[in-house]
Amino acid sequence: MHNDIEKVLYAQDQVNQRLDELANTLTEKYQDQFPLIVPVMTGAMMFTSEMMKRLNLKLNVDYIDVASYAENSESTGKVKLIQDLSHNIKDRPVIIMEDIIDTGHTLKYLAQLFADRGAKSIEICSLLDKPARREVDVEADYVGFKVPNEFIVGYGLDFNGLYRNLPFVGVLKRSVYER
Ligand code: 5GP
Repeated sequence: MHNDIEKVLYAQDQVNQRLDELANTLTEKYQDQFPLIVPVMTGAMMFTSEMMKRLNLKLNVDYIDVASYAENSESTGKVKLIQDLSHNIKDRPVIIMEDIIDTGHTLKYLAQLFADRGAKSIEICSLLDKPARREVDVEADYVGFKVPNEFIVGYGLDFNGLYRNLPFVGVLKRSVYER
């Protein structure tokens, strides 16, 4: 599986160190707020579980699953809800956990959905940010790493369901996704 990786962008130790920093910031900010942590499935699963271990505060965890539509491999900007939350978020501080912000359509949709439901506050914590591809005006409040405009896998991010379990953030070889 590692043969399919062009290069490692962030090794496990670097990710761990950055997660410690992000978690310290969130622990301080949300200490008395009882936030609901919402990973966007499935990409944010590993990031979220690693972060949860480091968040020293009272919290709840839920999850949500969405699909974004592409036509001719280009994003259409349309997002569909596949699996909704089980918590009522009215007057709750919500932290959306994402693997990567690319065009921004997914997070724009989710932030609007949660705002419509009356969340007390909505913040976005994303492991990765690919600013070169942004199509809508949305930014994360907390970002692990900025990445170049390449196809990233590992640490939860997949290609056709594979590579999510790689313990580092890497670039997939072009020959793998173009074959
Ligand atoms: P957005 O709505 O911001 O365009 O897309 C967000 C979703 O697209 C991410 O949650 C992720 O599932 C997928 N995505 C965007 N860029 C990449 C990438 O480089 N690698 C992988 N594996 N998924 C990506």
